Amino acid sequence: MSLRAPHNVVLLLGAPGSGKGTQARFLSELLGIPHVSSGDILREHRAHGTKLGRLAQAYMDRGDLVPDSLVVEMIVDRLAKPDACHGALLDGFPRTVAQAEALEAQLALMGSQVSCVLDLEVPEAVLVERLAGRWICRACQTSYHETFNPSPRGSLCGECGGELYQREDDRREVVAKRVQVFLTSTQPVVQHYRQRGVLTRINGHHPIAEVRAALSAAVQPLAVVELRERALTAA
Ligand code: AMP
Repeated sequence: MSLRAPHNVVLLLGAPGSGKGTQARFLSELLGIPHVSSGDILREHRAHGTKLGRLAQAYMDRGDLVPDSLVVEMIVDRLAKPDACHGALLDGFPRTVAQAEALEAQLALMGSQVSCVLDLEVPEAVLVERLAGRWICRACQTSYHETFNPSPRGSLCGECGGELYQREDDRREVVAKRVQVFLTSTQPVVQHYRQRGVLTRINGHHPIAEVRAALSAAVQPLAVVELRERALTAA
């Protein structure tokens, strides 16, 4: 498949609990590209009882990574969907260097490449606290924290009124495992992109609005180019 410019593939890296999901919604709107969360897609497969969902289940419950081959195929399929014709904001993918290399190979086939990599940095102890107090809306996936960012509607979502729930893998013992898996498998991905000079580090241990402003500044060049090129394409 060959693509017409612009095609922005933006990666949002960061440990579980670093705030990727919260910030991704805003960034995806800013850039006009879909938010593609590998964790959300896997949870959907589980909810629908698909073959992929059944294969992924045990890995997810333990806090381990789902095998690369399964996740890569899932993301490649997602990038081929029409709404990703201008690119995508990837959240939670790639999580291993092998996934990063597979993504780059696929993008090269599509005549594209990774435009920008954002790494949300948060101290390890903070991650565990954040995840263990996290509540997510079943309907719209908005995420809250019982202490740091409670829903204005108590046990209902402040955005859509949906029911809030705690993820199975946000139990304290699984959280610690997920953070360790991040440090061993995903930190090398951060290094991979740092060496290529496309990585922007963002301090994620600040209030949500400040992190948002820092991310917004980091992607500003892309947002400007994106809007200008889309206008030219439409003209
Ligand atoms: P997340 O919602 O991003 O925290 O992902 C939840 C779980 O889904 C992870 O703990 C993994 O088991 C699995 N998962 C999500 N993305 C990936 C990925 N890129 N590679 C392997 N496993 C993944």
